[in-house]
Amino acid sequence: MLEDIEPRRKARRCLTNGRKSSSIKSIFSIYYIGETMESAPPPVFGPEYRERLEEQNYHQGLMLKEQGRLVIGVYCSYTPKELILAAGAIPVSLCAGSPRPIPDAEIHLPANMCPLIKSSYGFARTGRCRYFQETDLIVADATCDGKKKMFERLAEIRPVHLFHIPQSTEGPEHLAYFLDQLMILKDLLERSTGRPITDDDLRLQIRRKNRLREARLAVCRLNTRKPAVLTGRELDHLTFGDGFEWDLENRVMELNSARIQAEARASNGGLPPDLASRPRLLLTGCPTANRKMLGVIEDRGGLVAAAENCGGLKTIGPLVDETGDPLMALARRYIAIACPCMTPNRGRLDLIGRIAKEYQVDGVVDLTWEACQLYDTESFLIRDYVTERLRLPYLHLRTDYSESDHGQLGTRVEAFLEMIQSGAGS
Ligand code: SF4
Ligand code: SF4
Repeated sequence: MLEDIEPRRKARRCLTNGRKSSSIKSIFSIYYIGETMESAPPPVFGPEYRERLEEQNYHQGLMLKEQGRLVIGVYCSYTPKELILAAGAIPVSLCAGSPRPIPDAEIHLPANMCPLIKSSYGFARTGRCRYFQETDLIVADATCDGKKKMFERLAEIRPVHLFHIPQSTEGPEHLAYFLDQLMILKDLLERSTGRPITDDDLRLQIRRKNRLREARLAVCRLNTRKPAVLTGRELDHLTFGDGFEWDLENRVMELNSARIQAEARASNGGLPPDLASRPRLLLTGCPTANRKMLGVIEDRGGLVAAAENCGGLKTIGPLVDETGDPLMALARRYIAIACPCMTPNRGRLDLIGRIAKEYQVDGVVDLTWEACQLYDTESFLIRDYVTERLRLPYLHLRTDYSESDHGQLGTRVEAFLEMIQSGAGS
């Protein structure tokens, strides 16, 4: 498939002449409802904070692309971006959160498919994602069935490399398989970029990415304090992915400076009392590329002290071992991601247990996107673990990207918060 990259790139340049004027909101908008709610804290880390960083990264990414760097799109947390960076290419996460392209996606995909897949595909298919437009190659993690089948259609418009994932983390044969897949990916990246990936290159990128993980984690860990230092929305603006990932060192500096600002606010009285006294929740479940649920929870009186989802503590957390063989170190770290596509997925229960304790949460909200069988099925296990082992209130919410059920979801969240405040359910 790779031999197609160059002609596709030329053809695409003709199609994307207006790209620099496209709004960042094309893919990242409508995440929050009530962003300007009266009870919102001073907007130290509001949407504009994130947009500024994304714009900066976007233009830097375009410049590097003009200089010949390849852009590699990914749709899942299992792809080690360290490998892509070590090959001198620019990784970009493409999971989408907007409902807008879904009708276009449904021309090729079934309506009863997870909205994350449909939104991501719709953006790609219609050319409305400015990041996808720049990609030369997609690394497609073969995780859930919906994604695997979607990638077959995506291959009609971009070269797609299927990155096979083992189905279990338990047993050396799965680690060996994952390592094998990393070697195949490394070889592909080297051929695509024309640049060999040395162990030293890889170690350098592992160190950089680890420093970024530490900086993100240090921001998240501000909310282990009681009262919380940041709202869930702020935390999300601060720690979520930023489009093209290239200048990791600059991103670390930005995060450290944001953490210092947040600490200063905490020393000067912190969040307003009506926010500081809210029930502290742990949000778990499907990836939150669409922030609808975060918006509903915080509009209705909760505070998301921590998020376990992909993009949250599940993927921010563990560092890659900086000693020994770098490829094996990547294999060990990435195979351990606690995703329900692994069976069994005991790591997720442990992770939720640890976060609930460290972040002193009062309840757990578990989000399932419609038609995600993996998370939906696992929600029963999570419910039992949270209520029986952690003795915490638990709420499971299943929804899609539409806005039609905001009222209904809000009512359920309010009832849950009342239950927590009354001391029932734990
Ligand atoms: S939830 Fe699983 S499949 Fe989805 S992005 Fe995360 S690791 Fe990948
Ligand atoms: S939310 Fe579920 S169905 Fe959707 S991409 Fe992730 S694992 Fe697949």
